[in-house]
Amino acid sequence: MEFALIERIRRRAGARGDVVLGIGDDAALLRVPEGKLLAVATDTLNIDVHFPGDTAPADIGWKSLAVNLSDLAAMGARPAWATLSLSLPHADEAWVDAFMDGFVALAAQHEVALVGGDTTRGPLSACVTVHGFVDHGSAMRRDGARTDDDIWVSGTLGDAAAALVQWRAGGGGDPALRTRLDRPEPRVALGLAIAGVAHAAIDVSDGLLADLGHICAASGVGAEIDLARLPASPLLRERFDEAARAALQSSGGDDYELCFTAARSHRDAIDAVASGCGVALTRIGRIAAGSGVRAFTADGRPWQSNRQGHVHFEPLATSK
Ligand code: ADP
Ligand code: MG
Repeated sequence: MEFALIERIRRRAGARGDVVLGIGDDAALLRVPEGKLLAVATDTLNIDVHFPGDTAPADIGWKSLAVNLSDLAAMGARPAWATLSLSLPHADEAWVDAFMDGFVALAAQHEVALVGGDTTRGPLSACVTVHGFVDHGSAMRRDGARTDDDIWVSGTLGDAAAALVQWRAGGGGDPALRTRLDRPEPRVALGLAIAGVAHAAIDVSDGLLADLGHICAASGVGAEIDLARLPASPLLRERFDEAARAALQSSGGDDYELCFTAARSHRDAIDAVASGCGVALTRIGRIAAGSGVRAFTADGRPWQSNRQGHVHFEPLATSK
């Protein structure tokens, strides 16, 4: 597509010493540090599937990178480079500039350079691939959880899904909740800090029960979650009753918090990481023998969720 659009993107790509050749040639040339593994993750955001059609372009730019950095965070990798494949209904320079405002704001925070991509015509879609570095021994995989591990989660859960509920209801929702949906904060520093301690980790993109379920399946274990311990923001408590909160927090997607498991003997070390990173970390349950995730209410009764995870292919707009 238009060279002028690519040039607008290139001007804001950011620089790094390990980028030998960035945007402009047939391929980028990049230097991987000696002795590190390259961690690569990719995620696509499509309009009306992964974000509401009224999302500001700057927020789409931010989120398209954030959801990818979140995957690197969940591996304990340090981000370095990104590529961006944009599909646009028409060559709209103002839209691309605004998109890049959000993208580069987050890229600068994590010293990520944009090193290539593709620009095509089609329904609005942003596909980002990120590359980072991780030490051989300290990558946090999904298959490392062990029986009796504590299960931890960062930040708070449920706000992003709550924003979607408010958006679907049509009225003006709470801006603070909408910000959690549109501008997730990838927990990169946290991922790096727990990489030597955690046994297994995942980022919560599809909902806690679904994502923790992936750890359980990969590790050959089960999990027990205490619903009353799931961290909720004050606003979520104010706006949604206990039953609604339980559903939003256990099954709502798009939080991009980290869920990880670690030995009980590391509780103090993890509390220290929380204060070091300035991110709240909450123990929400334990890894148990067996399979699958079981959730319990405050009085110890098993709780049945009516929906496992966030279904991305349910079009966002149907109920609007
Ligand atoms: P090619 O035909 O070799 O694929 P393109 O015209 O698609 O070349 O892209 C030219 C250069 O611009 C390449 O280096 C490519 O990586 C880069 N590029 C294209 N679109 C984007 C984008 N959306 N973001 C970043 N770089 C891009
Ligand atoms: Mg191309």
